[in-house]
Parts: sequence; structure tokens; C-alpha cells
Amino acid sequence: MAEPLVLSKDEKTFIETTPIVKVAMMPDFTPFTYYIDDKPIGFEHDLLDIISKKTGLTFEKRIDKWTTIYNAFQNKEVDVITSISYKKFREPFTHFTSAYYDIPIMIFVKDNFGEYKGLKSLSGKKVGVLKDVFYIKELEKSGNMNLVFYDNYEDLTKDLVFGKIDALIQNLTNINYLIKKHVYTNITLASELILPNTTKEDLRFGVLPEKPLLSSILQKALTSITQKEMDVLTNKWIGSLKEYPGGHIDLNKNEAAYVNTNQIKYCINPSGLPFEGLNEKGEHTGMSADYYRLFEQMLSAKFELVKTESWNQSLTYIQQQKCDMLALGMETPERKKHLNFTSHYLEVPLVVATKVDVPFINHILDLEGEKVGIIKGDAFVNILREKYPSLTIIEVTDIYDGLDQVKNGQLFAFIDTLASIGYEFQSKYFGELKIAGKLAENLKLSIAVRKDDATLLNILQKVVNNITNDIHRKILTKWIPIKYEQGINYQTIWKASLGVITLILLMMYWNRKIVRANTLLKQAQKDIEEKNKALSQLALTDNLTKLFNRRKLEELIQDEINKHDNTDHHFCLSILDIDHFKEVNDTYGHQKGDQVLIEIANILKSNLKETGFVGRYGGEEFIVLYPESSIDDVVTTIESLRLAIWKHDFNGIPPKTASFGLTCSIKGDTIEALIKRADNALYEAKNSGRNKVIIK
Ligand code: GH3
Ligand code: MG
Ligand code: MG
Repeated sequence: MAEPLVLSKDEKTFIETTPIVKVAMMPDFTPFTYYIDDKPIGFEHDLLDIISKKTGLTFEKRIDKWTTIYNAFQNKEVDVITSISYKKFREPFTHFTSAYYDIPIMIFVKDNFGEYKGLKSLSGKKVGVLKDVFYIKELEKSGNMNLVFYDNYEDLTKDLVFGKIDALIQNLTNINYLIKKHVYTNITLASELILPNTTKEDLRFGVLPEKPLLSSILQKALTSITQKEMDVLTNKWIGSLKEYPGGHIDLNKNEAAYVNTNQIKYCINPSGLPFEGLNEKGEHTGMSADYYRLFEQMLSAKFELVKTESWNQSLTYIQQQKCDMLALGMETPERKKHLNFTSHYLEVPLVVATKVDVPFINHILDLEGEKVGIIKGDAFVNILREKYPSLTIIEVTDIYDGLDQVKNGQLFAFIDTLASIGYEFQSKYFGELKIAGKLAENLKLSIAVRKDDATLLNILQKVVNNITNDIHRKILTKWIPIKYEQGINYQTIWKASLGVITLILLMMYWNRKIVRANTLLKQAQKDIEEKNKALSQLALTDNLTKLFNRRKLEELIQDEINKHDNTDHHFCLSILDIDHFKEVNDTYGHQKGDQVLIEIANILKSNLKETGFVGRYGGEEFIVLYPESSIDDVVTTIESLRLAIWKHDFNGIPPKTASFGLTCSIKGDTIEALIKRADNALYEAKNSGRNKVIIK
């Protein structure tokens, strides 16, 4: 908190009698003090101007290299030195003000350096540093790197850019500045430097101990600077540090020491891809592996994987303290008894997989009375049992066991995340199983930490707090085979049901009470609706496929738009075009082509949620309308359509695929505008390899 500047009588007299203060500053410490066109500028110059205005002091600047001004200050040739860090050994000749800036020290490497795994990656490497920096001793102790010393960091950075050294260690702000200035593109940030007994470089004013009044005036002036004034300075000279992934974690001494001295062991689910698993070489892979590599960088630490045979064994191992944390775990009351959890860093929808001939599942209670499989030990087993006691939940060993049992008819359905089921569907079960619906509940995943290790929990919480949206997006899109365009808010997609979950739970409670009474009513209503549908379809269907024809489709779209104009109602629409369809005609004849069109029309119809519409828009192009659906639901449905086509056996014809362009309505849309957007997305899906969904 800033305090108003109130000076004592002595301090006022000091300013009146000796208003001129000699201050020593560096010439090349960007962005704090440096030159542009012979004019000294930077954060510290602005800061001195502010202090000058507040106090009436005038600063006479002596600008020279650090070693020179540092000597001058010790020889008492100047009153004040800027950019000085607090060090105990400097106390006899320095009065320190509080810090006006804390700079993280960073390790930069060439971008062909390979994976950075903490300081030991630098051993035997040429590492450039500035002469006389305060952490030299700790750095020398920390490993056997070949340190190369520099007078200034322009040369230091240039040598890294041209490959004369392998890495450099320097303040983030300085290198940030040079990278921007010279547009260096071949160096990247490896990690923040975290050394024992070393905190960040704190920039302070150092004042001669002989001038205690000057020291207290400067301190009071600094304290009177408001956060807003400081923000203006920071924005002007430093900009955002968040541009770098990780590398900027504020660990306290205790935490830094922990990271340096402890080998952190973790367990994973060995068969939980795409979230996590082991590759052929037995190494950790999947989303959590990508996150953990980033965490290691952020902490300059190496985590050690303790391998297990199964997720259940991992749960046992952490209880037996054979590992310190679980890479991805969902917080549950039972687990909270012996584990602590960070806030969640991954959130994914849960879906229901069934055989292809099962109708769309709108609600988990549609599964009442059926056998539903969930992986044993999964956090959801108990949650679902508690919430839905009428479900018959059967625990299965792993995802393959679950999906196999659905395939053989031993289970009616299997519940897991969209990501895991979608992942397995890419290789197996195509054409036999489908994603039949989505649960209202999302799976929220955190890092689980042994209850007795509070320090580790704090460290990991800081790490989780520092993951940027950009990183989340990169990792999600790498592992989940649905491409999202910019402009879609990932947060909303992945957290779509978070805010409304309580509401949904309440509604479910009521639903359960009235569901039985409603069943009869619903059935009657359904019958009527179906008869009506059949009637109106007579005149409005396409001859070949029996889907809606183009005219009817346009009518339906216009209806949705009208609804949209009057209310907050919104809807989504996709165009799909069969990939390389001409080949079918060319190779097998037009009649076979017709047969494929009919079969694809049937796939679309049978995989579509009750409320959706599908029609034939042109030759081999279809439009699917998803009224009143969240993008989340639509993505689930459309993914299942894409997969179902891909895996369909066309009887003697190699598998066919289709490309999808998806868009959702915006207020003021016309039919043309809407279809154009979907068409553009389709065009892009075609151009970027086909058999995919692009959202615009
Ligand atoms: P891609 O869309 O992946 O770029 O390739 P494509 O081979 O599907 O290309 P294009 O869209 O140009 O070709 C569509 C073909 O669909 C051309 C036309 O002969 C065929 N076609 C259109 N309507 C029918 C139909 O009713 N029956 C049959 N058998 N073929 C049709
Ligand atoms: Mg076409
Ligand atoms: Mg085509």
C-alpha cells in the first residue's frame, strides 16, 4: 500500500541544503537504464523523475559500466547507486531501500538444444554469463558447466544466437528486450534459474550509510508511489512476462530448497491415453506427460516416474508412499482422506459408449436398469453410485475390458471421457460402438499429492496457477483429434457445464421423481410426433436417400433463424461432403455410388440426436442442423458421425470418409451467411487433409 509522502523536519532541511544527489547508473541495463540516440532512458530514469517531482531532489547522473560505478560507490564518489541487489556483504558500505523491481533470472538456449531437463542438462556445455553477477558462486557450485564470462549482454546474446555458446543465463527483462529489438528467432527460454541461497535479483537504490537522511527520503518517496504509478512504469518498460510459458514461478526459500534437494516421484495411470500412459519404450506419454515436461521446466527439476501395472496399483503406491504424487487425479471425499489436491488443470466431458443400434442417450437416467461399466478405481464409480443409486454399475479392469464387454453385450454401456473413448475409437471398435450421449458431469483432474507433504502441494499449486491458456490449448489440440478454430473459447468448451452443474443436479433430483409418471405421457407424445413427421416428410424428402431435401432443409434453417431473432435461442449447423466420392462412381459405377449415398444417409440418421435434422443438400453433400445445442454437445455428436462413417463397411468398397464444416448461429445471420461460413469451414477441412471437423 502506498503511503502519502510526509517528510520530517530534518529531511526537509537536507533537501533544502543539499538538493543535488549524485547517482550512479549503468549504460546498458535494459530496460532499466540504457541509451537510445545518446539519451539515457529507461525504467529507473522515469522512477528518478517521479521521485524528483515528489521530493524536490535533483539527480546528477554518472553513467558507466557496473564494475566502474560499483567501485565509485564503494569509494564514496557518488551518493546513490541504482540496480543494486541486497547482499549481506554489501551492508557495511550500503543502505538499501526496498526493492522497486524483482527480476527473474532465466536460462536461454538455442532452439536446437533439445529437451532441457534442469541444470544438469548444462553440464559440459558452454554457458555465458555476465562477469561479477551476484549468483556466480552458487552457479559454479551447482554443476560442471563451462562458464564463459561477458562484459555486456549484447555480446552474450549475440554469441548464443550465432552458436558460440550453448546457453546463457541472464535477467529475463534484458533478454526480452534484445529478442524484441533484433527479432532473434533462434533462441528460446529453457527455464527460470533456481539456485540454493539465491533469490531473484531485487533492484534497489543503494545509499551511502553516511547519508541516512537521503536514504530515508528515497525510501519514503518509493513507498509513496502508488501501484497504479508502478504499473504504468512496468507496462511502459517491461511489458508482460506472461508471454513465456512457465519460467516465472515465485517459489519461496523453503519451496526452492525442497525442489533442489528432493527427488519428486510420481505415479500415473499406465493405460489412460490420451491423458497418460506408457509408450513402447515404457516412457510416460500423453497429455499429463506434456504438462509434466512443462512443470519440470518451470521448476528446473526432474520428476521421477515410478512405474505401475495399473491405475489401482498407482493408488496403492501413493498410500504406501512409494510415490509422492499422481499426475492426474480427480478429487473425491474418500481420496481426500489421504491425499491433497491442487485445483484442477484439466476438465473433460464424460460420455457414454454403446453399440451402434442404441438410440441417443439424453440423460444418464436413460441407463436405468441397464448394466453400465466404469473402470475400477475410477473416481466416478462412487460419485455415480451415490448420485444415481438406481444405476447398475459394473467395474471393469480398463477401457478395453469395458468396450469389449459392451461389444459382446455383457454391458449395455461404458462411461469414460470423450477423449479416452474417442482415442480408442480411432483404432478399434469402429462401426460396432458409438458415443451415444454425454453426461452432465465433467471429469475434473488435478495433481494429487501425499497428505503429509504440504510443501509439495504448495509448489504444484503455483505451477498449476501458471499454466497459460495457450499451453492448455496446445496440449488439448495435440491429443484430442478435433480441431478448434480460433475464436472459440476453449474455457467454455471444456468447462461448459461447470457453472450449471448444481442446477443440473437439482433438476436431476426432480426428474427422477417425475420420470416414471412422464414415461407414458412421453411415449404417447412420441407416437403422435412420429406420425406427424412421417406425414410431412412425404412431400419434402429426397428420393434417393429419403432424407429431407434441399427445400425442406432451407425451410428448417429459416425457422431456426426466426426463432433466433426473437429469442436468445441459438443453433449449430454442419455441412459434410464425402471425401473422394467421384472415385466410387469411377471405380464401381454410379449404382454403387447411389448405394453408398443411401448408406451414409442412414448412418447420419441413426447416429443423430432426436432433436437434430439431417438433409441432402446436393449431390454428395449433407447438412445437419443441431437446434438448441451447446457446442459441446454438437462436437460430441459430430465426432460420432465422422467416426461412424469412417468405420462403416460399404460391402466391397474401401472405407469412405467425410469432411465437416461446422458453425453456430450468430444474431442477425441469414441462411446464406450461415451456410457460407459452414462451407468455408468445409473447404478448410478438405484442404487440410479431409476426414475432419473444422469449426468456424
Ligand atoms: P472431394 O469432395 O473429397 O474433394 O472429392 P470428390 O471426389 O467427392 O469431389 P466432388 O465433390 O467434385 O465430386 C462429387 C461427385 O459426386 C461428382 C458426382 O459425379 C457425384 N455425385 C453427385 N450426386 C450423385 C448421385 O446422386 N449419385 C452418384 N452415384 N454420384 C453422385
Ligand atoms: Mg462435393
Ligand atoms: Mg466430395
